[in-house]
Amino acid sequence: KAKEHGRNGYHFFTEDINERLLARLELEAHLRFVVERDELLLHYQAIFDLATERVVGYEALVRWNKRDGDLRMPGDFIPLAEEIGIIHEIDSWVLKTACLELKDVLKDRAKCLAVNISSKQLDMPHYAKFVGEQLTLNDLQPEQLELEITERVLVEDTENTKRNLELLCEMGVRLSIDDFGTGYSSLGYLQRYPFQTLKIDRSFVSNISGEGSACRLIETILTLAHGLNLDVVAEGVEREKEMAFLKSIGCDYAQGFMLAKPMALRYVLNSLESEVAGNE
Ligand code: C2E
Ligand code: MG
Ligand code: MG
Ligand code: MG
Repeated sequence: KAKEHGRNGYHFFTEDINERLLARLELEAHLRFVVERDELLLHYQAIFDLATERVVGYEALVRWNKRDGDLRMPGDFIPLAEEIGIIHEIDSWVLKTACLELKDVLKDRAKCLAVNISSKQLDMPHYAKFVGEQLTLNDLQPEQLELEITERVLVEDTENTKRNLELLCEMGVRLSIDDFGTGYSSLGYLQRYPFQTLKIDRSFVSNISGEGSACRLIETILTLAHGLNLDVVAEGVEREKEMAFLKSIGCDYAQGFMLAKPMALRYVLNSLESEVAGNE
């Protein structure tokens, strides 16, 4: 009897694993064809100048619109895409689409469009050339594009990465450090690489409570960044208190649900139209 029990327990256990494995395999199988099936789309989150409270640009954020109606967030599939080697396809689609939509819709309204790229992209030998082609194809100025790179990339720091960053900089594409303060990297790269923007991670911003060490930390990051001639964007601003503090210390730009949520292009368009209508 005891034996049977044990066997049953084992049975349930493997069933559970099998189920999870199956779910993952299924996700993986679908993910492989996500570009061919045209299931990706971009949402755009406005970036605000804190001094004027006006929109200065947008960040493109990828979404997976699954056939079953689910809208998946990048956290659910970008790591898997990196693992199974299809991140190039996804990020190439993102860059092409972002450039196209920038040209068609956002161009006159946004000084700059920010696009996230995976470390795997920068490790490709011809990545900078690919970026240049997309700009030319869409008649865009290099300064209109900003590529967001997480610190992790710079920890990995390969020859290709170095070369691509240098080439992109020579072309005039803007480079920004995303999620600053979460990557455990040395600060040496701030000197080695040609960044224009530093984005303070949301985890710091959400710790702002008027006083205390979180505020001092943000102030210190701001001083450091300005000392190096970098523009600073605060990510994930959700409360009035955070806005007020960031303004008071002279932070340049902010992004967050309180200001604007990421939204589909047609909604961006609507908000632009009502803004124009409101100005007249
Ligand atoms: P990220 O680049 O740091 O992007 C900001 C993330 O914070 C976005 O999540 C955005 O929706 C979210 N966010 C913005 N404001 C607020 C706020 O006030 N409160 C909270 N709680 N969240 C806020 P999302 O869209 O889920 O993207 C997650 C991450 O996935 C991004 O972090 C980025 O690193 C990555 N990602 C997004 N699009 C792409 C892409 O096209 N390629 C690659 N390789 N990675 C991407
Ligand atoms: Mg980003
Ligand atoms: Mg990012
Ligand atoms: Mg970030």
